[in-house]
Amino acid sequence: MQNNLIDLRSDTVTRPSPAMRKAMMEAEVGDVQYGDDPSMNRLQERIAALLGKEKALWFPSGTQANQAALLVHTKPADDVIVGAESHVAWHEAGGGAANAGIQFTTIGSNGLFTAADFARAIKPRSMDIYSPTTLVVIENTHNRMGGLIWPQDEAARICTAAHDHKIAAHLDGARLWNVSAETGMPVAELAGPFDTVMVAMSKGLGAPGGSLLAGPRDLIDQAVRYRRRLGGAMRQAGFFAAAAEYALDNNFARLKEDHEAARLLGKMLAASPRVRLVADRIATNILVFDLRDDAPDAVTVMRQARERGVLVNAFGARKMRAVTHLDASREDCQRAGEVLAEIIG
Ligand SMILES: *Cc1c(COP(=O)(O)O)cnc(C)c1O
Repeated sequence: MQNNLIDLRSDTVTRPSPAMRKAMMEAEVGDVQYGDDPSMNRLQERIAALLGKEKALWFPSGTQANQAALLVHTKPADDVIVGAESHVAWHEAGGGAANAGIQFTTIGSNGLFTAADFARAIKPRSMDIYSPTTLVVIENTHNRMGGLIWPQDEAARICTAAHDHKIAAHLDGARLWNVSAETGMPVAELAGPFDTVMVAMSKGLGAPGGSLLAGPRDLIDQAVRYRRRLGGAMRQAGFFAAAAEYALDNNFARLKEDHEAARLLGKMLAASPRVRLVADRIATNILVFDLRDDAPDAVTVMRQARERGVLVNAFGARKMRAVTHLDASREDCQRAGEVLAEIIG
């Protein structure tokens, strides 16, 4: 991709800065499968401590870490409760069914659901006509619903209700860093009510790859075998760990700038009567918006924006997504807002 493009397709498009590359180049590495990679060992310990969990395990992708979570918490034919439009049900290529053999029950609207919604959806183990509910997954921030932040007290109530029914709770926290940066709540507090949590280093933090699954020692030990089975057992992955540590040290504190840039872009788009933002308030770095019937459709807007140097995603026939990140300055976002507003009208 040429550097003069303003690329707001995702916060995964960032490229390692010279300083991050230097940290990677100088990383001390070893064979992860033998436990010999000092950079990886250090990162996993640091993430476990940050998240307040016993142990953490690195995966090449967040999808694979989520899949391993499904595998450690469920058995084939179990039922997994998720919010509407969650990543695990929409963006993991059917992995829940193919890898874990589970079925999803989707509840709530706009990515959120209440403890009461959850209680109504639980399928009890005691009745053998049911697929037993053994896991609930919450996504914070919520990707397809415009980067929204979960109310922490409701998430905690859901986890308590889950545990009362011997149901495990997993947090898809690919962008948990954004929640922490925005609310000031430590990630350990956000992850506290959950058994396991996944965090991505490759989104807003800007590392070139890698996500971690953290939780109780026995579950993470089981996840090691699932990672192997899913093909994610890499060797000198300490190069990625070094990038992740660099990202934690240097790119966490600035995430709020991305949120402010997203709000600026959101304000510019909301000024058009042909745009409807899916969230009333831009909570973090993702904007999802609908194009009303009198606007061009999403693919047309995407193509025309590209011709003018701005990349955004068509997320549906009349739905679009733009994501701010460390390689797009506030001025870039302002320029993207002008271009999109002109095209949409
Ligand atoms: C990106 C993302 C993932 C998966 O991460 P990959 O590294 O792209 O596989 C999982 N959950 C959410 C909410 C995400 O946004």
